[in-house]
Amino acid sequence: MKLHEHQAKQIFSQYGINIPNGQVVSDAISAKNTTEGLGGSAVLKAQVHAGGRGKAGGVKIAKTPLEASELAASMLGQHLVTPQTDASGVPVNSLLIEELADIRSEMYLAITIDRDHRCPVMIISKSGGMDIEEVAHNNPNDIHSEPIEPVLGLMPFQTRRMTRQLGLEGSIARDTAHVMRALYDIFVENDCSLIEINPLIITKDNRIIALDAKLDLEDDALFRHQDLISLRDRSQEDRLEAEASDQDIAYVNLDGDVGCLVNGAGLAMATLDVANAAGAAPANFLDVGGGATDEKVAEAVSIILSDPKVKRVLVNVFGGILRCDVAARGTVLAYQRMNSDLPLIVRMLGTNLEEGKDILAKSGLNVTFADTLTEAAQAIRESQ
Ligand code: GDP
Ligand code: MN
Repeated sequence: MKLHEHQAKQIFSQYGINIPNGQVVSDAISAKNTTEGLGGSAVLKAQVHAGGRGKAGGVKIAKTPLEASELAASMLGQHLVTPQTDASGVPVNSLLIEELADIRSEMYLAITIDRDHRCPVMIISKSGGMDIEEVAHNNPNDIHSEPIEPVLGLMPFQTRRMTRQLGLEGSIARDTAHVMRALYDIFVENDCSLIEINPLIITKDNRIIALDAKLDLEDDALFRHQDLISLRDRSQEDRLEAEASDQDIAYVNLDGDVGCLVNGAGLAMATLDVANAAGAAPANFLDVGGGATDEKVAEAVSIILSDPKVKRVLVNVFGGILRCDVAARGTVLAYQRMNSDLPLIVRMLGTNLEEGKDILAKSGLNVTFADTLTEAAQAIRESQ
């Protein structure tokens, strides 16, 4: 689950990281009043679950309260398209209005899980800001990473090494080390999968301030953080993915037109490969899970069928805990409810196979059966 910048900044503040004064607004008049309260000028920042806002017009500076209200009116209610969104973008329902910062330099600071080291890793750069991707590409030596042994936590020698790599000294080095420790505490105590400050700035009067904040929470640990669950903003999420997560269905929306219903994540991955090998592209990853009922399969297939990209559906089920007759009944139920006539390619194996096939064959749906993955790929090719 992703948090908004302003939500993440509240958490930063609780852990003693400096953030600019500011307020969240959702209308132009409040934007004007808030800017007045901040001394007459401010930065307006679209609160969306996507980075790259600065380059996409999602971060604007207002020199007067009137300008703030005009900018707010032009930003609110629009969809912001950034390099991190799809072509339709994400809705801008609120803005964070903040006092302007006197930036001397912009640094980058983040923590994520390093799968190679199997531990959290802190990533730092003295060249933070909007071009961090180019820095990573053109000057990889300007980016340092520090794996953190979870049993020990972030050690003083590590913060000393990192502040040296950032070229910091004296009180600035001390204050930055404090931010690093706070960031690690936030990461661990809130079960984050990613936390990022870009830019972490040094002001002209030598203060360290988090000008931006990105925080992703690990969904599987959310049950331990009831207070954070209420921060979820569904308006920022893919509609079908949000519906699927409500039903406990593992679903990721993809670009292609072959809808895939599968049980088991490994088989689902293999099914994406089958679709690709057939020269087609999958519309989704979907793992309906082992203990699914008719109704849950029907929900899953309905989610697939309500995606306008989908032109045909591939059901690939290994009937173990999920029996073939359950998969068949659920699929037929969804096709009937959605009144769909899309071609259906079914490859089933295992428990109650004959019963499952029988249900599908008698359903009146446009079904092609495949016994092997090769046959399934062939059927996909023929359905184009
Ligand atoms: P992002 O593009 O989505 O990462 O949005 P950021 O919050 O990082 O803002 C993008 C850029 O806007 C920053 O790197 C800063 O250079 C600039 N910016 C943000 N706030 C201020 C501010 O208060 N004053 C000035 N001068 N620039 C700002
Ligand atoms: Mn940023």
